[in-house]
Amino acid sequence: MATKLFDLKGKAAVVTGGNGGIGLGMARGLAEAGADIAVVGRNQEKSKQAAADLAGRGVRAIAIEADVTDNTAVAAMTERVIGEFGRIDILVNNAGINIRKPPHQLEPAEWDSVISTNLTSAFLCSKAVHGAMKKGGGGKIINIGSMMSIFGASFTPAYAASKGGIVQFTRSCACAWAPDNIQANAILPGWIDTDLTRRARQEVGGLNERVLARTPAARWGEIGDFAGIAVFLASSASDFVTGAAIPVDGGFSIQG
Ligand code: NDP
Repeated sequence: MATKLFDLKGKAAVVTGGNGGIGLGMARGLAEAGADIAVVGRNQEKSKQAAADLAGRGVRAIAIEADVTDNTAVAAMTERVIGEFGRIDILVNNAGINIRKPPHQLEPAEWDSVISTNLTSAFLCSKAVHGAMKKGGGGKIINIGSMMSIFGASFTPAYAASKGGIVQFTRSCACAWAPDNIQANAILPGWIDTDLTRRARQEVGGLNERVLARTPAARWGEIGDFAGIAVFLASSASDFVTGAAIPVDGGFSIQG
């Protein structure tokens, strides 16, 4: 019973930004549970390496070069996945960037770039796969938010707006597509050790110490911490969970 609940054999997943960091952590979890994986990113070399890592876990894995802010590229990516796997059951909208500046220093082009990478891309990819999911009898959309979906910070105006927006977008998809048996949920990572935050640690003085002091688990998260939540939200174990925003943060968001 328990194994069947989390079984993803015969399912096909698209993971944007799956070539590294949290995306790769989730992709590995999905592959271990049996799903075929399409890794989507701009850096094709990195994506090919990730696909080889995933294929080593006994599933089919392909690397697709696409900029998820580009609707034409997203349409081509979707077609390719359907061509290779014949279906799309799981979409993980994980691609993301940050530009750390206070609002009065952030350029409009920088604002646009963060919003389109973190938020508009989730809309484009979700819309693109909806038809295939519906045709397959249902689907699972997993959007990646942040602690900045809940909190603000002086240096993240566009990032926090995009991550707050992703939670509301998730809720809207959950409502709209419930009749198609599609569940949409968001994961809100705490502070996780990846390329993204390695730069933040250099740019934001005292960040490392503040994160450790505030996190009850007293450590930074690792990409492997996202395998379990990805499998749960991608599998039939979560069929009555939709529109939720689930922190995976070692308790960062509940520390009083
Ligand atoms: P990484 O920088 O390691 O990963 C970001 C990924 O996004 C890369 O794989 C990158 O691939 C991809 N990407 C960026 N822009 C595009 C684009 N235009 N088109 C396609 N792919 C793109 O960072 P993380 O793993 O840390 O971040 C993953 C997600 O988790 C992001 O949404 C981030 O906001 C979120 N997050 C991270 C936290 C952390 O502490 N690390 C905390 C909270 C949220 P490529 O360069 O090949 O395009």
